[in-house]
Amino acid sequence: KTALMEKLNDAGIDTVEDLLLTFPRGYEDRTEPAAISSLTPGESAYTAGIVTKIYKTQGRMRGRKSLLKLRVEDVTGSMEVLFFNAAFLAKNFVSGEAYVFYGRVTENSGAVQMIHPEFEKMENASGGIFPVYRQIAGISQRDMRKSMRAAIQFAFELPDILPREITDKYGLCDEASAVRGIHFPKDRSELESAKRRAVYEQMFVLRLGLLMMQSGEEDGISFPRDGSEYDFAASLPYALTGAQRRAIREIYADMERPARMNRLLQGDVGSGKTAAAEAAMYKAFRAGYQSAFMAPTELLAKQHYETLRRDLGGLGMDIGLLTGHMKPSEKEELCSALERGDIDAAVGTHALIQPDVSFRKLGLVVTDEQHRFGVDQRAKLGEKGAGPDMLVMTATPIPRSLAVIMYGDRDVSVLDEMPPGRVPVQTKAVTDRSRKIVYDFIMGEAAKGRQGYIVAPLIEDSSDIDARSACGIYDELRKKYPGVSIALLHGRMKEDEKNSIMQDFAEGRYSVLVSTVVIEVGIDVANATFMVIESAERFGLAQMHQLRGRVGRGSAQSYCVLIMNGTGDVARSRAHTLVSSSDGFYIAEKDLELRGPGEVFGTRQHGVPDVALTEMVRHTDIMEELRGDAMELIRRDPDLSMPGHTELRERVETLFGGRAQINI
Ligand code: ADP
Ligand code: MG
Repeated sequence: KTALMEKLNDAGIDTVEDLLLTFPRGYEDRTEPAAISSLTPGESAYTAGIVTKIYKTQGRMRGRKSLLKLRVEDVTGSMEVLFFNAAFLAKNFVSGEAYVFYGRVTENSGAVQMIHPEFEKMENASGGIFPVYRQIAGISQRDMRKSMRAAIQFAFELPDILPREITDKYGLCDEASAVRGIHFPKDRSELESAKRRAVYEQMFVLRLGLLMMQSGEEDGISFPRDGSEYDFAASLPYALTGAQRRAIREIYADMERPARMNRLLQGDVGSGKTAAAEAAMYKAFRAGYQSAFMAPTELLAKQHYETLRRDLGGLGMDIGLLTGHMKPSEKEELCSALERGDIDAAVGTHALIQPDVSFRKLGLVVTDEQHRFGVDQRAKLGEKGAGPDMLVMTATPIPRSLAVIMYGDRDVSVLDEMPPGRVPVQTKAVTDRSRKIVYDFIMGEAAKGRQGYIVAPLIEDSSDIDARSACGIYDELRKKYPGVSIALLHGRMKEDEKNSIMQDFAEGRYSVLVSTVVIEVGIDVANATFMVIESAERFGLAQMHQLRGRVGRGSAQSYCVLIMNGTGDVARSRAHTLVSSSDGFYIAEKDLELRGPGEVFGTRQHGVPDVALTEMVRHTDIMEELRGDAMELIRRDPDLSMPGHTELRERVETLFGGRAQINI
């Protein structure tokens, strides 16, 4: 094994096939050298010119750099090319000869420069479009390209996983040409056709996997049109927002259709998703069906239980609560009431999925904060009825493009309007130096009877990671502010302990909750008005937005403070986005831009190449079209067991890690 191979193995690339399917992150276009006068500082460029002067200076004192400086001219202008501590490169250049250069353009007192560019003699210049791969520790782009060139001769052995109907229908090139064209395209048009094939292939595999895991498009229930929306709206103490009315209309239209509903309802924290779900549950009830409402934590399940009892109880519905921590006798009683049909809607945690839970007539399944549940967990709940409609709600807005990839254009509802009377949360980003001011301020709020959260990336201080920890902050603040009641919460505590702390906090027994991200998911304490995020540079954008959503739920002014420990460009840019916007969809789009779709989508580990994803996001129309093709194939061969489909199935399994979840 060579050192290079070991490094590849470390990055999860074990076979030639793995290597070939490691697609470039982007490309450098070196087909046409740009005129020197057109070079823009700050950008990478490919240019060419004649070397007219060569200067060498020797670093005399220790630590002083030696410098090799070239003057390069073309008919439009001139530039300087600099190499530090690389005097040995001088032998590559002959004054009067032409060379090509590739590198970042910089500017120094009016002179255009390139520092350490790649170069070649003009007469040997290979030109073309160069692949740029994701950074793999210890492997240079040059090495990566070299390995890829060696591997590419085996491209013809890659199985062609797409069925002929698909390649014919869309005029796609074969797998081997696609892989060759993705890594070493002769020109733009070859690259485009290779990418097109890769995108179709990825989308098709993704679609198939989703269809195989979701319950597909089997027959569902046709709920009658009965005017439930009017009775429901009339029973509420407030008027529905326009967005809520639109979402309810979309949900009802789905429910009235015979096909099964599989709808995603997206809306920022506080946009009123629960009311839309209630409307759906009420419609199911009116038609004589039961509903199940699944929440990710016990506390949330309890909160929803209270809300549903309040809102739907008055409409004649009986609501039950089922969690993992109930006494067996209570649980039994509830289960038999569900089976008899004495309970119209059950709210609960994962406990709802257990095999001993059954319904008399389940017609609707609602899951809240769905990114916490795997696709298959949702499906399991769905199996407890005969094709119940599925409504999935999330407060982590997914960029529309990604949502459409997952659900299809027609199946996404959006609450993009807040109920009236909310006071926007004031957000500030500060450096660690202002910590004391921040804490004095929030302890002042606490003294006024307000509550709030402090979130840190670590549970305990660590010598390896330069970031604050929940335990560290807890100890520190208890010493500094002995008069304030402070609680600690983190993921290593037992479930019971966590629940009782959250319960106590919700009931106002603590002013400050120091925590790790375990509180990220929807606990609803209207009196909470401050959120401090420590070592904020370690959190993702969507995550911080979600955390911020824990405050600003009541009518008082709320605050969110990001304390930045380090300041990279990305961290600064994230902080800026949060400070300047409270729009979850805008933030999600930014997140996508900053992190790339692979991270946001949670598929990086599953081997969806970034190029393909980036393209998918741009071509949701294709995704829509392929959806039909995927359904057609699944209808003919539901588990892809027919001869000719084995490789396709393997690819689906790799992508989904054998029913693994995609975190979206
Ligand atoms: P989320 O989308 O975060 O789940 P909720 O459904 O919990 O939001 O709603 C947040 C709060 O807003 C709840 O207290 C709810 O009663 C209230 N609410 C929902 N819709 C409206 C509305 N149209 N007008 C006024 N208040 C509303
Ligand atoms: Mg909610």
